[in-house]
Amino acid sequence: LAKNKGINAVQFYSSKMFENITRTMKLERTLRQAVEEKAFTLHYQPQVDIHSDKIIGVEALIRWEHPTLGNIPPSEFIPLAEDNGLITPMTEWVLETACRQNKTWQESGVSPVRIGVNISPYLFREDLIGMVKRVLHETKLQPDYLELEITESLMQDPEYTIPILKELKSLGVRLSIDDFGTGYSSLAYLVHFPIDSLKIDRSFIEDLKNESAVIVKTIINMATHLDVSVIAEGIETEEQLDFLSNLNCAEGQGYFFSRPVPSNEIVNLLIKQQAIGE
Ligand code: C2E
Ligand code: MG
Ligand code: MG
Ligand code: MG
Repeated sequence: LAKNKGINAVQFYSSKMFENITRTMKLERTLRQAVEEKAFTLHYQPQVDIHSDKIIGVEALIRWEHPTLGNIPPSEFIPLAEDNGLITPMTEWVLETACRQNKTWQESGVSPVRIGVNISPYLFREDLIGMVKRVLHETKLQPDYLELEITESLMQDPEYTIPILKELKSLGVRLSIDDFGTGYSSLAYLVHFPIDSLKIDRSFIEDLKNESAVIVKTIINMATHLDVSVIAEGIETEEQLDFLSNLNCAEGQGYFFSRPVPSNEIVNLLIKQQAIGE
């Protein structure tokens, strides 16, 4: 009996592996086509000033509806795009679409918000500065309404990264470190990074009742001393919000406020907010 079980287990794992490989190959093939045809959409998630409860920014998040496999999460196709160079044209599309969308919102008369765009570390090996310059020029978005979200992993190579960040800053855009606290950044180097904001990773907010509270407290204090703003990611409950509010966390993002939504829903939220303010 045990022997049979063993054989079944092997068959189970190998067919599962086969399925995964086939899926990856299928995705890779169609991803290239999707990039060429710009077959993506963006959703936008509000970022809220915790004190005033006002939307002050949105994060652009890419969405891909595969013709046969349905919705593929970015956590699955971004790494694929990074592996075969597709991340560069994909990011250019995201940047341009996000900036143009923000400009359109602003022209419709709602109070202006900044827009966050995720920038993979791979872009730091490409002409990221040229890309950002071009997009700002083409969309005519005021640069301080664009925030580039970079990852903590870039801090491992400060000699390479810092000059690029300084050049990006000279364009007038904002820079934030995404998923902060999960990487291996040396706090000593953080001082030398020309960043505007730290985004505290969702895993710490999820775990606020336990040891993470002290980590979150420390990040908020550190940000205050470094004079950078701080935003908590993944706020799902009122309890988490109250906790963060008591720690003087200035900004938050998460399902409690809103899930990522299409552009027209952002407009509705901004209009509603304006009506309350008047
Ligand atoms: P991220 O930049 O940290 O984005 C936040 C992710 O957390 C989003 O997942 C968002 O939907 C999710 N989220 C927000 N609030 C909550 C919450 O309260 N609870 C939970 N459980 N989740 C929440 P999404 O859209 O699936 O994106 C995952 C990751 O994929 C992003 O993490 C980012 O690293 C990457 N990504 C998304 N869009 C792009 C893009 O255009 N370019 C690049 N390079 N990466 C992207
Ligand atoms: Mg992000
Ligand atoms: Mg994040
Ligand atoms: Mg994340």
